[in-house]
Amino acid sequence: MKEIAIYPGTFDPITNGHIDIIERAATIFNKVIIGVAEETYKECLFTLSERVELVKEGTKHIPNVHVEPFSGLAVNYVLEKDSSVMIRGLRAVSDFEYELQIALANRTLSEEVETIFLIPQSKYLYLSSSLVKQIISTGGSIKEYVPRSISDKMAAKFKEKQ
Ligand code: ADP
Repeated sequence: MKEIAIYPGTFDPITNGHIDIIERAATIFNKVIIGVAEETYKECLFTLSERVELVKEGTKHIPNVHVEPFSGLAVNYVLEKDSSVMIRGLRAVSDFEYELQIALANRTLSEEVETIFLIPQSKYLYLSSSLVKQIISTGGSIKEYVPRSISDKMAAKFKEKQ
């Protein structure tokens, strides 16, 4: 079994769905590195350092997880970390086309990197960072969707930005 797996993503912000995937990956691999993307085609609500900090806090209960920012192509980042495994999460059908496209594009970029898809508990199948952002921006409670330990911090950070 490969020792290190990389889970790249935007994590704007991290949700219980991401954490479910990370917990699963951490039982399969010796070490899971979460790469928080510096550049992203999406407009982020949280800054890179805020996203990294929230991922760190939300995953501190998992000992073999390391969190850091990364920039550039995710496949190059995987190789730089001496890994050949990229973790991605698959939710409902809507993720499939996009994730398949990205995984095939990544394979074209590097044959060495294999994408492994993990599926969360069914209650997280429709949970997304976008949903959390929508709820937060209308003043609703996000406690069901993100770790309790960071939900207040997330809401406070959002308020600061108003
Ligand atoms: P990206 O911009 O790279 O898609 P995201 O943070 O949106 O970054 O997602 C990172 C990965 O986590 C993607 O593979 C996405 O499908 C997966 N993911 C996001 N939310 C969930 C969830 N609720 N359950 C399982 N996987 C998820």
